[in-house]
Amino acid sequence: MSDTAKINLLDLNFEQLKAFFSDRGEKAFRATQVTKWIHHRCVDDFDEMTDLSKSLREMLKRDAEVRAPEVVLEQKSADGTRKWVLDLDNQATASRTTPAIGNKVEMVFIPEDGRGTLCVSSQVGCSLDCSFCSTARQGFSRNLSVAEIIGQVWQAKRTLLELGEDERLTNVVMMGMGEPLMNYRPVIQAVNTMMDDMGYGLSKRKVTISTSGMVPAMERMIEDTQCALAVSLHAPNDSLRDELVPINKKHPLNELMGVCDRWVEAGPKRNVTYEYVMLEGVNDNREQAHELGKLLKAREAKVNLIPFNPFPNSGYKRSSEARIKEFKRILNSYGVFTFPRKTRGDDIDAACGQLVGKVQDRSRRHLKFAQPRFGERNSK
Ligand code: SF4
Repeated sequence: MSDTAKINLLDLNFEQLKAFFSDRGEKAFRATQVTKWIHHRCVDDFDEMTDLSKSLREMLKRDAEVRAPEVVLEQKSADGTRKWVLDLDNQATASRTTPAIGNKVEMVFIPEDGRGTLCVSSQVGCSLDCSFCSTARQGFSRNLSVAEIIGQVWQAKRTLLELGEDERLTNVVMMGMGEPLMNYRPVIQAVNTMMDDMGYGLSKRKVTISTSGMVPAMERMIEDTQCALAVSLHAPNDSLRDELVPINKKHPLNELMGVCDRWVEAGPKRNVTYEYVMLEGVNDNREQAHELGKLLKAREAKVNLIPFNPFPNSGYKRSSEARIKEFKRILNSYGVFTFPRKTRGDDIDAACGQLVGKVQDRSRRHLKFAQPRFGERNSK
């Protein structure tokens, strides 16, 4: 079997891994052994899987691989936030069919007291064009595979284990580059593996899919996963939301709130977290706070007020702390749980997609300079 035909075991959930072994005449318990090596101990070298026989290890080397996206750049903020750029071009399948340049995504690890949150990407770029988003400026390249999504968790866990620091990965949010529900099947399989004891064993409430409001896919999620749900709301009415989050033109607020209500009704511990990025003079005045309070007061809702992370030519500014405090006070007066988030990683490229944007700009410039100059081209 050639290298390109090897099966990346990060692409398989536990049931598929059992099938992989049974197809090769091996007992199901081999899947338990191997899954623990891969997901619990973050081992990618079959020779290190010492409780497997030599012949089994040889078969695995011939037929399979454990291949996560490769870290090509790391930034660490003074507040402990780590941001990594991952290159997907070492992946065996999809990326070989797309140009090498541009297949990079970001993941961010945010350590806090007693917990560590990993923000994971689901697409290279994004097609949804939210007006305040750095990733949107890059356009859309392609969806990530299961291995590329789960491989981010694998890579982060392995890095933290290697660093030996007292930082643990306890939470995952699908809130990095891309709209997760535009890449539905791989994202659902990956988050289900994150919550599976034969995967990463994270609690259901600590694995979150964040969507800008893909209503039909949210409807499917009700049946397909038990993870937590966050909605990027950012505006209390359709006219402003049409401008900030253009998918709202297709799925306006009444549809979005309807599916959120059905999500909550579908299970005893289900609620929705609404994300609201605070943009000075755009969505942060008192009337808008009252409007949002009225929209959410009868719902199982929690609101995160997120200070905007500025990036060059964004056209937006971060709301002042006083404005965020006042917005929270008004929402609280409607009984809506509201949490102003701290700014993190201010000294690094903190806006989602910003660091990859820089890396790709550099790469594009590099390519441009690598082109034959006028005259050289014609002389051939
Ligand atoms: S905010 Fe999310 S959905 Fe909107 S453009 Fe950015 S990555 Fe896409």
